[in-house]
Amino acid sequence: MHRLQRQRAALFLALCLCLPAPSAGWAQTALCAGGGVTVNAQTQSLRDQVCRAAATAQEVVNHCDIPLPEAHVTITVTDDLVPGCVGLFHSDDNLIEVLPPAIMDERLGNDSVFAGLDEEGFFASIVAHEFAHAVANGFPCSSGNCVTAGEYVAYALQILAMEAGDRAAFEQRAGLVEPVAPEQLSGVILMFAPDLFAARVWSHFSAQPDGCSYLRDVLEGRVSFDREEP
Ligand SMILES: [Zn+2]
Repeated sequence: MHRLQRQRAALFLALCLCLPAPSAGWAQTALCAGGGVTVNAQTQSLRDQVCRAAATAQEVVNHCDIPLPEAHVTITVTDDLVPGCVGLFHSDDNLIEVLPPAIMDERLGNDSVFAGLDEEGFFASIVAHEFAHAVANGFPCSSGNCVTAGEYVAYALQILAMEAGDRAAFEQRAGLVEPVAPEQLSGVILMFAPDLFAARVWSHFSAQPDGCSYLRDVLEGRVSFDREEP
């Protein structure tokens, strides 16, 4: 893929939100062990893969003492997603749509901060990212604009949910060593340089003395990044 496509893929990774929910179509449905998540996917192995990724995301959310979504979350694997998009969260239905792993991997550019992840690792991380949006959806947005805050939580949980090797690969590519100020986590960076936003989120989050407490502060509106329209 050329550079523009890669940038578009990264952009939509961050911003594919709020489209009308489709029907599941041809997929078969299963309830993931532990409850709370239903998966629609074509094969048993893919349904298992989604459930594993969702369970990991749930564990991270639980570990941080953040409430899981009260409403049931549905995760549908579909190759019929908006062009350039790898994952999508529909807030009205608590529905997550993700591309199949192989197609998702094709859309991951070589210069992405996530390019060090293999197909399964990247897929799992996108499930975790979108699941984090479902988690954030359970919190009211008192400021009226929580887009950047929501993406902060989504990227932080996405990277937290990675296996250690994947996280190390991400950190190597992200390459940030300098402290990140909250002002550097703007809606403009999110929109126009989502990989940089992801790298800055992780750098900023990693510097927090109590990361879980900080995520709760963001979700509950005690911290806001949405100072400007994205
Ligand atoms: Zn997102």
